Amino acid sequence: MAGMACATYLKERGCEVTLFDKGRGPGGRMSTRRIAQDGREFRFDHGAQYFSVSDEEFARQMKAWEGAGVVARWPHDKPDAWVGTPGMNAPLKHMAQALDISFATRIVGMHKQGTAYTLCSEAGALPQTFDSIAVAVPAEQATTLLGTIHFDMARQAVGVSSSPCWTLMCAFADKFSDAPESYRSDGAIAWAARNSAKPDRDAAECWVVQAGPEWSRQHLELEPQAVVPMLLEEFGKALRADLPEPLLATAHRWRFAFPSAGNAGCLWDSEKRLGACGDWLAGATVEDAWLSGRQLARTMLREG
Ligand SMILES: Cc1cc2nc3c(=O)[nH]c(=O)nc-3n(C[C@H](O)[C@H](O)[C@H](O)COP(=O)(O)OP(=O)(O)OC[C@H]3O[C@@H](n4cnc5c(N)ncnc54)[C@H](O)[C@@H]3O)c2cc1C
Repeated sequence: MAGMACATYLKERGCEVTLFDKGRGPGGRMSTRRIAQDGREFRFDHGAQYFSVSDEEFARQMKAWEGAGVVARWPHDKPDAWVGTPGMNAPLKHMAQALDISFATRIVGMHKQGTAYTLCSEAGALPQTFDSIAVAVPAEQATTLLGTIHFDMARQAVGVSSSPCWTLMCAFADKFSDAPESYRSDGAIAWAARNSAKPDRDAAECWVVQAGPEWSRQHLELEPQAVVPMLLEEFGKALRADLPEPLLATAHRWRFAFPSAGNAGCLWDSEKRLGACGDWLAGATVEDAWLSGRQLARTMLREG
């Protein structure tokens, strides 16, 4: 979200922008996971569940996205909550249409020679050169990238630590009759939501179940297949129900889910033409990530 918000703003003002993302498609922590099984496809918003809007500019962006049919209100948990439609990643897919993005490209190094930056992916050096770089990745990953070029920025990223979140995605043959649409607590299960309760989803009984930070930390290094039965049991306990056998169940470990965010908004060094944006600089939400990206773009244009 932060990277695309930054790139969109710059591109709309005539800059030539190229993005690289290690993911297979647009999403980051707003990804939607599609799982095909027995001729059916199940979809899960397995990162951010919804986003709220408090900033006026973000509210205008929301109106535009609503007009494009890629977000809708879901005033279920909070009156000002929105979700992507038909999946959480929809606004990102929408922005991606106008941007030049190479997916499945993990950047592992940056080098500066004179005024030109070159980048290295896992497959080797990339052919292009760039006059400016915006690093829009979680703090723990930014540390490695910034470390060789900008000690001070890397130090700010090192100061951030993110809580993990083990997330269970499970689908059932029938709708649970008496379960709430969502469940929140500060126990082993922090939040669970019926994915199909959100607008514009299909009817399959899909649930996303997020373990709390303590539980996630204690079980961080387990394999997903070990975590699945444990979280199913905790989910049953949370709903006070004997869960039926799921049609499918899988788990995803978000190692850096929720940052202990600072309030710098973004980082920019006009001499080195290097900056950073992301939720870790502005808050810990989708809106914060969007605002951080826009702030970095504005700073880059203003400070040159
Ligand atoms: C389980 C979970 C639940 C959440 N729930 C909510 C919620 O309900 N509401 C809310 O507002 N927020 C929620 N959040 C937080 C929200 O998702 C984030 O604040 C927001 O998506 C952060 O956006 P970002 O652009 O800063 O980072 P990210 O979305 O993490 O984007 C960073 C991008 O960088 C890419 N990347 C990383 N390293 C490299 C590399 N070396 N090379 C190339 N690409 C790289 C990644 O693939 C990713 O696409 C949740 C997060 C999680 C994980």
